[in-house]
Amino acid sequence: MSDALGILREKFGYHDFRFTQEKIIESVMSLKDTFVLMPTGGGKSLCFQIPALLFTGTTIVVSPLISLMKDQVDSLKLSGIPAAFLNSTLSYEEQTAIIHQLINQKLKLLYVAPERLLNENGQFLSLLLRVHISLFAIDEAHCISHWGHDFRPEYLKLSKLKKNFPHIPVVALTATADDLTQKDILEKLSLVHPNVFISSFNRKNIHYYVEPKKNTYRRITDYIRLHHDESGIIYCLSRKSVESLASDLSGDGFSAKPYHAGLSKNIRDRNQDLFIKDEVKIIVATIAFGLGIDKSNVRYVIHLDLPKNIESYYQETGRAGRDGVKSEALLFYSRGDVLKLKKFAEIENDPVQSEIMLDKLRKMARYGEITTCRRKFILNYFGEDFDGNCNSCDICLTEFERIDGTIIAQKALSAVARVGQRFGTNYIIDFLKGAKSEKIWPYHKNLKTYGIGANLTSDEWRHYIHDLIELGFLKQVGGQYPVLKLTEKSLDVLKGKEKVMLVKIAKKTELISESSKAYEKDLFTLLKSIRLTLATDAKVPAYIIFSDATLIEMSTYLPQTMEELAWISGFGNIKLKRFGEIFLKSIKEYCVLKGLTSKILMKSPKRHRRTRTDSALHNQV
Ligand code: ADP
Ligand code: ZN
Repeated sequence: MSDALGILREKFGYHDFRFTQEKIIESVMSLKDTFVLMPTGGGKSLCFQIPALLFTGTTIVVSPLISLMKDQVDSLKLSGIPAAFLNSTLSYEEQTAIIHQLINQKLKLLYVAPERLLNENGQFLSLLLRVHISLFAIDEAHCISHWGHDFRPEYLKLSKLKKNFPHIPVVALTATADDLTQKDILEKLSLVHPNVFISSFNRKNIHYYVEPKKNTYRRITDYIRLHHDESGIIYCLSRKSVESLASDLSGDGFSAKPYHAGLSKNIRDRNQDLFIKDEVKIIVATIAFGLGIDKSNVRYVIHLDLPKNIESYYQETGRAGRDGVKSEALLFYSRGDVLKLKKFAEIENDPVQSEIMLDKLRKMARYGEITTCRRKFILNYFGEDFDGNCNSCDICLTEFERIDGTIIAQKALSAVARVGQRFGTNYIIDFLKGAKSEKIWPYHKNLKTYGIGANLTSDEWRHYIHDLIELGFLKQVGGQYPVLKLTEKSLDVLKGKEKVMLVKIAKKTELISESSKAYEKDLFTLLKSIRLTLATDAKVPAYIIFSDATLIEMSTYLPQTMEELAWISGFGNIKLKRFGEIFLKSIKEYCVLKGLTSKILMKSPKRHRRTRTDSALHNQV
């Protein structure tokens, strides 16, 4: 067993590394500068926390967000790892005490804000030059780049790091960086021949659903009633709709609070805090909410309105399921939203930028309209391949009926031809349906094809026209007001030489239902309440004590002894000692009451039982 794996099991209570974690740790341990791009929840923290424990000396972690620093430090301390943070929330005395710990080599990890690390008078820097520093970890590294979506000028100071500490390895980590930002990060930090690790953007545990934006209040309340025990975020476009939805939900007895930039800082902080501590279940928010929230047990993210682009959607839905437990992302989609957002996308006197924004918006709209896997669409958008059926989006979970759509296709294609290939989708639909509207040219109303599609609804036509575009029988041309045109493939269809198979618009079964989870729900609720008590005593958010994933494992495998409990992911040595008995007692009582026995042997066989005494690493930290 490698030293790193030993630490993972002993200290963190996890059995195996995820994805590239082990390779990254190896890179850091060989003193190489390292760049890590990994999606939220991927497990970036361990990539510097484990080296920090293996190295002699202290690892300095640079982090932009004060709230996250405290979370991480609390969580490390609970696992018995000596860590601290330095920022402006601490009193002078507290700061002095921490600096003493640093000088006396008592800390394995010290979290600092970037402005602190390289402050004007160079005091802290000269202190660091005198103590034994093993590694610099730069979290949220995209903050150093103008190209990133969250540039922070104070991060620019980090460019001097390598000059002052040329021999100390740097690991830079981020969850969002396109090519440009990536290059910029490496350059600005002056990393030396860095090893670069880029993970897949696929968030497997997030399931994607789209529903038409109709009767949304009823849909939302149905949904959250089923998920009343779980934390969720509902995003709205405007402050006004945030206010009204939050107050309607509260009025109907749901545990919901609003969050938007128009509220006073006090109220915002309070609402966010209640949410993080699980005292409020639902945050109704504008996009102002979310940055710097590390809450790992957000089980769903609902978008009442369409986001501006896929980047935002990915980031906002990414706040669900950081703990790896199944979570849901639900978008309410309507064409009306696309039209509304078009106005925002246009930037005055900047046609080039406007076109970029409009194009991003169009892709967001396509996400809502496609009849192919939503996950594939998102991953392809970020330049990543993904084939096949993901089995966890509404499309992949719906059985679509394929029909011979040749006649439908012929009607649509001849409509496009008859009006001279000069009109967009909406016009073609109105034309096919024989709309009486003034918008239809009088001349067109006399054509034979006018009204030949009256047997289908507008939604059905929109769906089929989309499919025909996907299949290459039609194309959309032009920027702001795209028109439909025929393609080389169209003629064969019109002549009856080619058959067209279309996907019939399916009445989707109500997809969002209580998931069939194979764990003891009542026990899970009980364990949650124990966790909450422990968290309140320790003055930390509940998910710092244990993630939902750990509680779910306990409620699934029903461990009956301390040895069995040690198999549960998330129980490191220290947590086992500190919290083991109290959880075990409740699990055993529950099992007696229900006549259940341990299922621990059903845990993946490759996860061998750990022997806790033979670790060579025991005294290393
Ligand atoms: P990131 O910083 O990349 O968003 P975190 O480091 O916060 O992700 O990790 C997300 C969650 O996954 C945390 O609850 C963490 O404890 C857990 N985790 C990380 N690595 C592993 C692993 N190898 N096995 C099990 N859980 C892990
Ligand atoms: Zn899918």
